[in-house]
Amino acid sequence: MRATLIYGAGDVRVEDVPDPVLREPTDALVRVLRSCICGSDLWPYKSRPATAQGERIGHEFLGVVEDAGTDVRGLRHGDVVVAPFVWSDNTCDFCREGLQTSCRHGGLWGADGVDGGQGEAVRVPQAQGTLVKLPVSEDSALLPSLLTLSDVFPTGHHCAVTAGVGPGMSVTVIGDGAVGLMAVLSARRLGAERIILMGRHKARTELGRDFGATDIVAERAEEGIERVRELTGGDGTHRVLECVGTEQAIATAFAVARDGGTVSRVGAPQYEKVPMGFGEFMRNLTLTGGVAPARAYIEELLPEVLDGTLEPGRVFDRTVALEQVPDGYRAMNDRTALKVLIQP
Ligand SMILES: [Zn+2]
Repeated sequence: MRATLIYGAGDVRVEDVPDPVLREPTDALVRVLRSCICGSDLWPYKSRPATAQGERIGHEFLGVVEDAGTDVRGLRHGDVVVAPFVWSDNTCDFCREGLQTSCRHGGLWGADGVDGGQGEAVRVPQAQGTLVKLPVSEDSALLPSLLTLSDVFPTGHHCAVTAGVGPGMSVTVIGDGAVGLMAVLSARRLGAERIILMGRHKARTELGRDFGATDIVAERAEEGIERVRELTGGDGTHRVLECVGTEQAIATAFAVARDGGTVSRVGAPQYEKVPMGFGEFMRNLTLTGGVAPARAYIEELLPEVLDGTLEPGRVFDRTVALEQVPDGYRAMNDRTALKVLIQP
């Protein structure tokens, strides 16, 4: 079969790899219907040291169960399923606490001999705990929106939930990437009244408006901070959802938070230190967020995707075939595409 491998910065190839086989009784084999490229795939794409041996990549996919091990209950040949971006047993103490990203028997896609999602098929470890069955057919028009349940939608939701977004609140969302836009959608879904989206790509912020943003701030850094403060009578917003991960983004987040407010970050941090000094102490600010346990949220978010109330799949603005995945990486890296859908 064909699958995507990363060899180093800027070097992504689609190659022949061995067909996956069941190794453990808890495994399932999934034929991939849709996959996609994540903003976080761009970090290795920008910086991975070159190696002679490539590594499988991709952690968002949706597909059809082709085969399942003897210990896998509730999944059958032909079931359409979505996989969260981390696999987990969904039964250990961390999983039961809703923190499947810390599962005692879980792990990452594309690491330690586990397949990546950007290929024709995937061996899924801990399949019963990991996969969520979707009541749709292989040719459903909902597949792109359902695929967002793998990562970006639950990640945006996790940002809004950990921030404590609730009815009537004011919220600033930093970043107009796919996760930022999902954070807007999630904040709106949880009842936020005012949602200020900080982003400067017109097409993306327009989609942000459709998802529920009430104000757009295109300025960055000091200018952007001033603008948010102007919009909020000088106070900032109750909640700030930081969906970028840079030092400037987290500094902006603290600066646009209202006193007593909460900053949640779900952008993978590209920094080690956060500005939580005396000034933030005096303002009673809280920092929360982290990697999203997508598996914990899929059942909750699924109904509104199935009935069409929410259309998170609108974040995909380009579709490529598997052989064109390297073009997809280039497009996302050059920011000519917001999020690339892969149709093997
Ligand atoms: Zn677990």
